[in-house]
Amino acid sequence: MMATTHALAGVAVASLVALGAPEQAAVALAAAFVGGLFPDLDLYAGHRKTLHFPVYYWPFALAAGALAVVSTGPATVALTCFLLAAALHSTMDVFGGGLELRPWRATSERAVYDHFVGRWRRPRRWVRYDGAPEDALLGALLAIPPLLVAGAPLRWLIGATVCLSVGYALVRRRVPAVTEHLVEFVPTTMTEYVPERFVEG
Ligand SMILES: [Zn+2]
Repeated sequence: MMATTHALAGVAVASLVALGAPEQAAVALAAAFVGGLFPDLDLYAGHRKTLHFPVYYWPFALAAGALAVVSTGPATVALTCFLLAAALHSTMDVFGGGLELRPWRATSERAVYDHFVGRWRRPRRWVRYDGAPEDALLGALLAIPPLLVAGAPLRWLIGATVCLSVGYALVRRRVPAVTEHLVEFVPTTMTEYVPERFVEG
């Protein structure tokens, strides 16, 4: 799934905060947005392994959530929503496609690395690949609850994120050709630093 879908999923869950603690809604949404993106910062360094923890984020998110219930404030709410969105992201990646350059070919058996059992979880492909039409649709649906509770600046951010998702989905299948073309310009001394999936055929 696209990083934007993960951000929107986190924000969708965080919009529940508006029901219990409306004054914390903005900080909850902002933290969940960042937390939903966070695991994909490992894109160039062990993607879906280094910052993806489909098991380990959850207990920390629950502990932070308990703390936020006992002591509700911007810091505890932000920490909870950040961890919850990162946990959701890591788990959701199991239901997307694999790690290959052209994930619609469905050749990869790697969805996300599970540090708990020490192996890769295989992709279920409920959303066939990142940037698939159903991925953009999912993101748009997830944007509805937060759009109902967000203030103006966050509403713009959420709207822009949906637009970005749709735009990426429209060009997604052209991305590998562009990537391969760009990799040709990488000096041979540097090619060992190019992630393997960017050079595979
Ligand atoms: Zn991811």
